[in-house]
Amino acid sequence: MKYQDLAALYDQLGATSKRLEKTNLLAAFLKKCPVDDLPELSLLLQGRLFPAWDDRQIGVASRIVLKAISLATGYPVSKIEEEWKKVGDLGDTAAKLVSKRKQATLTPQRLTIKKVFQNLRKLAEMEGTGAVDAKVKLISELLTSATPQETRYVIRSALEDLRVGVGDGTMRDAIVWAFFGDDAKIRYDDKKESFEPENREEYAKVVGAVQHAYDVTNDFGEVAILSKTGGLKKISAVSLSEDKPIKVMLYQKAASLADAFERVGRPCAFEFKYDGFRLGFHKADGKIKLYTRRLEEVTKQFPDVVEAVKKHINGSSFILEGEAVGFDPATKRYLPFQMVSQRIRRKYDIEEVAKKFPVEVNVFDIISHNGKSMLDVPFQERRKKIESLVDPVLFKIRCSEMIITESDREAQAFYEKALRAGEEGVMAKNLGGVYKPGSRVGFGVKVKPVMETLDLVITGAEWGTGKRSGWLSSYVVACMDKETGEFVEIGKVGTGIKELEESEGATFEELTGLLKPLLGRETGREVAVKPKIVIEVTFEEIQKSPTYSSGYALRFPRLKTIRIDKPAQEASTLRQVEEMFREQRGRTA
Ligand code: AMP
Repeated sequence: MKYQDLAALYDQLGATSKRLEKTNLLAAFLKKCPVDDLPELSLLLQGRLFPAWDDRQIGVASRIVLKAISLATGYPVSKIEEEWKKVGDLGDTAAKLVSKRKQATLTPQRLTIKKVFQNLRKLAEMEGTGAVDAKVKLISELLTSATPQETRYVIRSALEDLRVGVGDGTMRDAIVWAFFGDDAKIRYDDKKESFEPENREEYAKVVGAVQHAYDVTNDFGEVAILSKTGGLKKISAVSLSEDKPIKVMLYQKAASLADAFERVGRPCAFEFKYDGFRLGFHKADGKIKLYTRRLEEVTKQFPDVVEAVKKHINGSSFILEGEAVGFDPATKRYLPFQMVSQRIRRKYDIEEVAKKFPVEVNVFDIISHNGKSMLDVPFQERRKKIESLVDPVLFKIRCSEMIITESDREAQAFYEKALRAGEEGVMAKNLGGVYKPGSRVGFGVKVKPVMETLDLVITGAEWGTGKRSGWLSSYVVACMDKETGEFVEIGKVGTGIKELEESEGATFEELTGLLKPLLGRETGREVAVKPKIVIEVTFEEIQKSPTYSSGYALRFPRLKTIRIDKPAQEASTLRQVEEMFREQRGRTA
């Protein structure tokens, strides 16, 4: 398929913020796309080069793209930068310059979806000396054959900043509309120029089957191909692979223990909410792999955990889930997340840091065992299974602390016990709840005493001055607008960050290091940042404000911790911000 067709679709998608319209456009496109192009197309539509379970990144900074545009168009980098400042978007800038191209190209070849995909993917593989030049060449090769419209999207895809707003829900529905018209009882209404389900129940069933297939594969390419070639039977039969990571189930927030009972039912299970980080323990073919909740593989970083899982969890293959909590090896006191988070990214001296910052694993869920999915098994039975598989050893591995109760008094006592133990609070879980990967369905809720915080994505920063020069010292933060799939800004954070390397808390140096590979356009001291890094932010109040694109601003925002474990897509949503805004008004009224 020609890339030109995809570029035209991007234009149409970008021109509407209505989800239904987007779904329509996508469905029509998927329908006519040959099977052979579906894997690449399904990724490119969401601005991705790799499925969600694959953590490779393109890692192209804007200066590389500038050089590529210069090589392809013959304009000097300074001229392109000047245009960029006027136009505001590097994709649009390149499109404009390509249309006025200075260098005559010899009969350019038309770009195909495959060609663009291949070149962009190669970008992620280039490392070491000569990588910059090779990356510049790969991009400029595409640009020399690209029309202005294609140029815009080649550049935006290379920068991982596509901005056409195709969220997971929209992709899933488009696949249903495109490939399951008969099963889902959907027909195309010529007058309305839209797909319409005739029978809501049938429709919901098919949507559920496609969502499930995505939940267990995390790969729309695979789901689209199976849908097109295998139909409902194949898609319903897609099962978990113990070799691949899986999106975690998310928990809603309850205001109190009484609220928790109301939402998950009475009796219910209460567990400690540990202040650590989630790990998925996967065993397949005798090999153990560990994944974070960002679906990053961290097996190498945690040889101690691999050992504990190998020795103390029974089964030839499985996926279990738990929280790794750091503790002080001398005093055996549990430590807050910030202290051990450095282990997640550690590349060297791994054994040494493992000794310095050991972790204890608290297993709290099971997703499959010996090749059988346990997603549809009620929580209480999953828990029994865990207890039968885990051989507990203090300060190594054990089942999460849990009680089942219907009593307010017992729940309160357990909650206080969790807090005394230094944990964040408790989780309340519905005894019959199944496991829903990637969704916040409400089978479980969390109860925490501390003031609410928001997990926000850094989308911009400012270079510091004086003693902070050389560091990025103020960070623009954003939440996720689920309607459009875009990040909307909500404030600037400059406090809560340490100037000196200390044992606890984030430093400017650390944040600057994390953000440097993600930097985009600079305007004076301000610089745009690709939305990848999530930080947890405390604040005094949420206010309505015209200053930021979310329509809200935080009063006295302060960095609490870098959520190195959290993917940008799981940042707090605009809806949560709106809810918190209303709740706080309720309190002050
Ligand atoms: P939050 O990050 O506040 O949305 O809370 C969800 C996270 O709490 C999960 O991803 C786990 O990492 C963590 N957690 C700690 N203890 C438990 C537990 N007993 N059950 C489930 N999740 C837990």
